[in-house]
Amino acid sequence: MEFLLGPPFMVGVAVVVGLGLIYARRTYQRCPHCGRLVRRVAQGWLRCGFCGRQYRRGLRLR
Ligand SMILES: [Zn+2]
Repeated sequence: MEFLLGPPFMVGVAVVVGLGLIYARRTYQRCPHCGRLVRRVAQGWLRCGFCGRQYRRGLRLR
């Protein structure tokens, strides 16, 4: 059983982490005002729950 926790296991973990990061980057973005993690805007504008200001897709202030 020990060989199952070797390199193949680490590769599996790396793949899962990589896919998770890709998914997170597609789902979340940084608030352009305060830099915190907020939901990515699909359409129109959203209000940041931390600083209360509105942001939209592709807006870069920092
Ligand atoms: Zn904010």
